Amino acid sequence: MPDDAVTEPEPIELPDWDTGPRGWPMAAASLRATVDDPTARRATRLADLQSQVRCLIQRARHEKLRVLLGALNRIDQEIDREHAQGSADLSRLNRLIRYFDRLVQHLQKTRDDTPEAIALYTGSTELPELLEDSLRRSGFGAHPIHLENPDPALLEHTGLLIYLARDTADHEREFTQLAELKKRMSACAQSLMISQRDDFAIRAAAVRAGIDHVITYPIDSARLNTLLTGARAYECDDEQITVLLVDDMATAGMYWRKQFARANVRLLFETRPQAAFDTAIAEQPDVILLDLYMPEMDGVDLARIFREHPQLSDVPILFMSTEERDQHRLEAKLKGGDDFLNKSIAGDDLIRMVRYRAQRYRQARAERRTDSLTGLLNHRAITSLVDSELDRAIRQEQPLSVVMIDIDKFKHINDTHGHPSGDRVIRRLSTLLNTRLRKYDGVGRYGGEEFMVVLPATEIDAAVELIDRLREQFAEIAVTTEAGDTIHCQFSAGVAGYPEHITPQEIISAADGALYSAKQAGRNQVKARHYED
Ligand code: GH3
Ligand code: MG
Ligand code: MG
Repeated sequence: MPDDAVTEPEPIELPDWDTGPRGWPMAAASLRATVDDPTARRATRLADLQSQVRCLIQRARHEKLRVLLGALNRIDQEIDREHAQGSADLSRLNRLIRYFDRLVQHLQKTRDDTPEAIALYTGSTELPELLEDSLRRSGFGAHPIHLENPDPALLEHTGLLIYLARDTADHEREFTQLAELKKRMSACAQSLMISQRDDFAIRAAAVRAGIDHVITYPIDSARLNTLLTGARAYECDDEQITVLLVDDMATAGMYWRKQFARANVRLLFETRPQAAFDTAIAEQPDVILLDLYMPEMDGVDLARIFREHPQLSDVPILFMSTEERDQHRLEAKLKGGDDFLNKSIAGDDLIRMVRYRAQRYRQARAERRTDSLTGLLNHRAITSLVDSELDRAIRQEQPLSVVMIDIDKFKHINDTHGHPSGDRVIRRLSTLLNTRLRKYDGVGRYGGEEFMVVLPATEIDAAVELIDRLREQFAEIAVTTEAGDTIHCQFSAGVAGYPEHITPQEIISAADGALYSAKQAGRNQVKARHYED
């Protein structure tokens, strides 16, 4: 019998916090409040904490939450230590409790599978598997809807309508019905057509029917994921975009700030080139508006400086000027501007233009970061995520775990069942990682059959437990090959992190080393690199 199995759960005397899904966060908050309580004596606080913690330990055992159980046991031991000696301010205990709190938040998010939004689909009764995964990952639950008599309540509360266009369908008729449906949905709802046919006629019909996006087979999951993420953002009212305006006239800033504010555009305004450059780097605006003629440096030169910087090289740059001469306008565009706007442009038109540019830019940027086979972050994006999450972990004094995963004997799978079947296995693992880990955990395809997972605010041991559960689940998944056979695959993983290792290179190479040990030890297991290893 596994040693964490509970034969006969003892009757648990729970304090008055609730035992539902909100129970753990409330329990963690209560621990924090107790350790922080300035009115209680040290001994009272310790006694109070210990009775709460012992009770939670029983509950964690009962619910088989091994990660929480481990953290609670450490707190319990620390309380014993504090009773005996310890610091006046309970600082170690405080840190452990804060850590427990973060762990609870983290698990809450990983366990919570309820969708945040609903996507309606129509045109076919079956959702392609890839689409279903992508929807889940973007926080959508999928719901079928009838083209003929749709449920009005569903239409009202939905931000995304997906039309699965079958080859055999009467497209003209369905397009008319779709246009009707779309009218009954909220103004910012998006529609997406997934079509087996890809020709001019069907694309033209889609545009006429007011369909926002068209995806054709084979589905490009990178593009699909970015569209869905975009639709999610739309759904929460229009997403705020950031615009940097550079103009030597202070009045320009005042004028445009008012115009933009009512359209949910955050305006950053600079009058000097150096300050504009610093702001652009720090704030990563979605669009830059540049005055063409400025005393210190003209707009064209400033645009060239922006273009030379790796983080700004693709941001849309729009010149604003009263310049009418075609030759000057052309020169300005050739030197790094994307478009040329007259300073007398109407506020609403500028806002529409800026929104359009910002959206396209965001979409392109997201697509560049994505691996097209799996829709996960690509090598470059996931390694740069290690950098930025490590910075954040150090700043916020939180742990960080990085996991390297490699499918076992994958060459054999390719050799036996063919490359396309191998691709299916890769996709299946991506889906598992994606659905079991939530949005703020980074999941990327590091290379061929290697994956990298970045887990903020997670200590190595907790990461090992988490990945080990995924390992067990993956081993149980039956993948159907091209030939229709069923195969099972396994993976090995290595975990390392901060604070055990300090630089991104150190962490990645330690995780790689741990992966190597896991392979050496016989595969299908997870190993960690601690300080001492
Ligand atoms: P080990 O358990 O030691 O990891 O053995 P392995 O066979 O998995 O290791 P190895 O790294 O030697 O083989 C990886 C294989 O993965 C080699 C390559 O042909 C295959 N591969 C890499 N990228 C892809 C891909 O995108 N699709 C498919 N189907 N195969 C790929
Ligand atoms: Mg391998
Ligand atoms: Mg490999």
